[in-house]
Amino acid sequence: MSQLGSRRRWKEARATFRARWRAWRVASRNRAMARECFYCGVAFAPEGPDHRTVDHRVPKSQGGTDSLRNLVFACYACNQRKRDQDEEAFLTSEWLQRRRDDVETRAVPAARRRRLNGGRSG
Ligand SMILES: [Zn+2]
Repeated sequence: MSQLGSRRRWKEARATFRARWRAWRVASRNRAMARECFYCGVAFAPEGPDHRTVDHRVPKSQGGTDSLRNLVFACYACNQRKRDQDEEAFLTSEWLQRRRDDVETRAVPAARRRRLNGGRSG
């Protein structure tokens, strides 16, 4: 009898753990989405082409809604470029490939600089 009870407690603990894990995963994904462009992955800047905008994945002109499922954070450059294109066309566009390459090459030297500075006086 006590064995059944402890099994139920174990199941409840496991369910609680899983629910918290799921919630944490969603929260951290949302935090990441608030920091980086959904399309090109650039870290948002306070101004300029890298500043944060809200993009409709399916444009409103094509029947997209304002529901959260249809909204993502995108940098200004991607948002401007995407405009009324549908997502599939934009994701496979040459412009986005170039933009991603550009973002990556910009990110690498910054990481290297941080490592070098950390190695010296700090
Ligand atoms: Zn972008």
